[in-house]
Amino acid sequence: MVIQPKIRGFICTNAHPEGCAKQVAEQIRYIQGKPKLNGPKRVLVIGASTGFGLASRIAAAFGFGADTIGVFFERPAEKDRTASAGWYNTAAFEQAARAEGLVAESINGNAFSDEIKQETIALIKEKLGQVDLVVYSLASPRRTHPKTGETYTSVIKPIGQAYENKTVNFMTGAVSTVSVPPATEDEIRQTVAVMGGEDWEFWIRDLLEAGVLAEGAKTVAYSYIGPKITYPIYREGTIGRSKNDLEATALKLDRALDDAVGGGAVVSVNKALVTQSSSAIPIVPLYISLLFKVMKDKGLHEGTIEQMYRLYADRLYAAEPAVDEAGRIRIDDWEMREDVQREVDSLWEQISVDNLNELADLEGYRNDFLRLFGFGIPGVDYEADVEPNVPLTRG
Ligand code: NAD
Repeated sequence: MVIQPKIRGFICTNAHPEGCAKQVAEQIRYIQGKPKLNGPKRVLVIGASTGFGLASRIAAAFGFGADTIGVFFERPAEKDRTASAGWYNTAAFEQAARAEGLVAESINGNAFSDEIKQETIALIKEKLGQVDLVVYSLASPRRTHPKTGETYTSVIKPIGQAYENKTVNFMTGAVSTVSVPPATEDEIRQTVAVMGGEDWEFWIRDLLEAGVLAEGAKTVAYSYIGPKITYPIYREGTIGRSKNDLEATALKLDRALDDAVGGGAVVSVNKALVTQSSSAIPIVPLYISLLFKVMKDKGLHEGTIEQMYRLYADRLYAAEPAVDEAGRIRIDDWEMREDVQREVDSLWEQISVDNLNELADLEGYRNDFLRLFGFGIPGVDYEADVEPNVPLTRG
């Protein structure tokens, strides 16, 4: 099959197996070029196939030399359809990790369900015995509650009043004004139920109950804060409410883990990056393309893998892990630097369709977006016939 990108709005509906494998290999090479880390040797990553979760898994395997189990929800190839990017990413990761003699096992299914939690526990017992670190990195538009059966849908909306600001269609470069209506109380409730901390708590309680969390085990989940321009749509909107809930859950889990195994829970606030999830948020892609411009000019730019190495090396497994006043790890520190934000603000004021390419790194945004699906990667022949059917196997 010859595979070219099929873009619909802000999603790409196919993926390229060789391109995905190459971008996984690049992330592995980045970690291999860094000093080896001292830390956990058995790691569970929930949401392990793309974005921050994939980078967390790669950094754990190739930085710590950790055996890993990854949980995710991805689509295998069918007759005339490619698999999803996370499927190909995982196939490439497993092959590379196993070549190093590491355990690399995966579970493809709905992480919000009790069944997948129990399947994961059984796999931990079989392959690892226990785990020392649990990374929780799910991003999903929907969740069915495992106890009540209610299905919740998350929305990205402001709270209280409509929010209007500039946005960009990153594929066409069209800048326009978007107005997003305020969420209803029920939409807020549902978004918190999908992206808040309840499922993370269910995971940790089930893992504890099954006795598969090792002495000193830690867990980390990811949050975002961002600048004032995006507050109404992000941090003070529906998603922000769910992040507040996630952060409150961290404090609760920290106590529970400390009591049970002498471990702990923490939230890491990460940098804004192009992932399948962030591309779906209005206004944010324009902010990210201005941010990229400023951070690249200052030599401060990072992708998911650079962020995850810094999380492990300088924070989570550092001798004195620094946290903010709310107990959160901040690896958004470079994004939030005062000089960076001042420049982004000034560009935001000036941006229009005429100066977009000059002031914003739209090309960088677009490239990163295509790369998520294995496209636009040097050295891959996109005219060549490739086999879309790539198996995921037990090691
Ligand atoms: P992503 O879309 O790249 O990855 C989501 C992962 O969740 C994938 O592995 C996917 O397979 C998995 N998943 C989704 N639904 C699932 C389900 N029902 N069962 C099992 N697996 C499922 O997302 P991302 O941007 O890496 O986000 C991960 C976390 O990082 C989120 O909490 C997000 O809010 C946070 N974060 C993102 C950014 C950003 O700019 N992208 C910044 C800071 C924090």
